[in-house]
Amino acid sequence: MSARDDDCAHCDAVCCRLTVVLQPEDRIPGYLTTTTSAGLHVMARDEEGWCVAVDPAHMHCSIYETRPEVCRRFVMGAPYCSAIREDYSASRAQGIPLVMY
Ligand code: SF4
Repeated sequence: MSARDDDCAHCDAVCCRLTVVLQPEDRIPGYLTTTTSAGLHVMARDEEGWCVAVDPAHMHCSIYETRPEVCRRFVMGAPYCSAIREDYSASRAQGIPLVMY
């Protein structure tokens, strides 16, 4: 992956397809959240798998200043970021619908 490819401007916000478990200190409006069958309070996702806080016109976080703690800890370009981007690219190339948990 080149340096150009390894930044948010050249990514489909793949990290915003991961499950975001909310912490007690997070202050997220209730209409953006849901509770899983396991009882976890999480960011809700749309039918295509993206977090409902993604601004689809610009593919960026619409609540960036108040985003959850988990999102604040996600490191752009770190091994986990690179790994999920590679999985996403491979799945798209194969035409396989990708669901991340
Ligand atoms: S809250 Fe913002 S940064 Fe976190 S997953 Fe949703 S859109 Fe992405």
